[in-house]
Amino acid sequence: MTAQPCLTNPPEGMAIHPKRPCSALYLHVPFCLQKCPYCSFFSLAGKNHLQPLYAKAVSMQIRQTASNCANESCRLETIFFGGGTPTLLPTETLARLLGDCLNAFPVAADKKLEITIEANPATVDKNDLTILRLAGFNRLSIGVQSLTELELALLGRPHTALDARQTFSDARQAGFTNINLDLMYGLPGQRIADWRYNLEQALALAPEHLSLYELTIEEGTPFAEQVRRGSLRLPAEEDVLAMLEETKTLVRQAGFRRYEISNYGRSGFQCRHNINYWQNRSYIGLGPGAVGCLNHTRYTATKDIEQFAEHIAAGKPIWEDEEHLTKEERFRETVIMGLRMTSGISIAGLQKRFGIDPLAYYGPTLDRLIRQGLLHHDNDHLCLTDRGLLLANMVMAELV
Ligand code: SF4
Repeated sequence: MTAQPCLTNPPEGMAIHPKRPCSALYLHVPFCLQKCPYCSFFSLAGKNHLQPLYAKAVSMQIRQTASNCANESCRLETIFFGGGTPTLLPTETLARLLGDCLNAFPVAADKKLEITIEANPATVDKNDLTILRLAGFNRLSIGVQSLTELELALLGRPHTALDARQTFSDARQAGFTNINLDLMYGLPGQRIADWRYNLEQALALAPEHLSLYELTIEEGTPFAEQVRRGSLRLPAEEDVLAMLEETKTLVRQAGFRRYEISNYGRSGFQCRHNINYWQNRSYIGLGPGAVGCLNHTRYTATKDIEQFAEHIAAGKPIWEDEEHLTKEERFRETVIMGLRMTSGISIAGLQKRFGIDPLAYYGPTLDRLIRQGLLHHDNDHLCLTDRGLLLANMVMAELV
């Protein structure tokens, strides 16, 4: 069999190999009510008038991409509508776009499909959530961030803690049985007790999954400027470490297992879409600004919605960036990404996939990290220790 193109206007050399099937699709919705001052994701506030143009172009991109894909072994197992704030699109539009994906791409059997949508509190009500559930979304990820009003105001979030609780309750009533809550810790002025309160409140809602992220200050955001000016002070490092310790205890008592640096799930509720990223596998990225990775090439679509729509309609390339990854680059990325997971990486698995032995490749660096108690090596497995998970950025910097 010859390799066939699998993308709308695939960049040079981006034909998907028949033996390298793709099982994950990410669809980016770049609209937000307002821009949060810490956010560096690609999202636009005040551009809702572009939504009809966006929806038409993405619908076309779904069909074009699927019809160009001749890899018969491709079966979507996960679909993720992320943003931005996907739920700013009209619910009927979201249902139609998901229908387009399910009609256009071969999909795995029903029970194997994980279909996630991110939602911000106060952008959906029970009726919307019922329509989304009926359309086929079976996993909801709610961007709560905090359950304390003062913190929400500081984060510039356009919702209250009550809104978040209401959205969660509406989602349950709409039939969602797999719900993730996103929360952030290490916020300016946050004390350990404040974080404990947030986490206890979140656990009291009994979600299936928690994504708990430390606030990071991203260059180019208003928060970065405020930190530079000294008007925003982050908690001391030892307090942030204490928050993480507190987290480990509380989530374990509540029946969650940490399976990635920032992610905790009840048994059987780990996010399969994200695991695909951490295993450094292929995925399709659709929508303006979306990143995809197919056939060893990472590509990014233009962020200009009007240009995106114009190029899709004209069958012209939409890529703003493309990067072909060598085998060695993919190997190193797979090590770094895989170590994010508490299960770590399989040495034999890496050897089989890349023909490279990580023990020999990293040699003395790896020995030192093991001696320092940051990595644990056990027969075929290499994983971060508890201390290594706390200092993961430092460890990754040594292996990149
Ligand atoms: S809602 Fe999310 S994507 Fe939108 S600006 Fe805030 S953090 Fe960024």
